[in-house]
Amino acid sequence: MKEQHLTEEQLQEYASGVDITAAANAHLSHCEHCTGLVAEYRLLFADLKNTPPPGLGFDVAALVIPVLPVAAEQGTDRPNHYLLPVIVTIALLIPAIAFRTYFFNILTTIPVSFIYPLLIIPVLFILFRILQLYRMYLRKIEALNIL
Ligand SMILES: [Zn+2]
Repeated sequence: MKEQHLTEEQLQEYASGVDITAAANAHLSHCEHCTGLVAEYRLLFADLKNTPPPGLGFDVAALVIPVLPVAAEQGTDRPNHYLLPVIVTIALLIPAIAFRTYFFNILTTIPVSFIYPLLIIPVLFILFRILQLYRMYLRKIEALNIL
């Protein structure tokens, strides 16, 4: 019966100190081919342990940070517009409440056949925006599927 050499996986496990089967141990005790390969793997593993981690030989942050524009200074100069919608709403509500009877009369006296055509514009605008959002969503999902 012809004895087979150990597999690469068994040789690597033995070289890295993992316990192997008794049959594999017995084979290693008399096979020069396999013990030679184990010695090569041990050399390779020792070299890998002694290899310094990959990296640049200089400090990248020290070179890049002084060149970057300072973002914090730009951020503080921008005015705050969060209150603008509230102010505009209040400014529109004051005349709407003050002249509510006139606005109500306008709405009740305008014929319905004139109001419906005016409603088509915002409805179409909203539908168009929804369609745009849906297309953007599909593009993003497609981009994710490529990755
Ligand atoms: Zn062998």
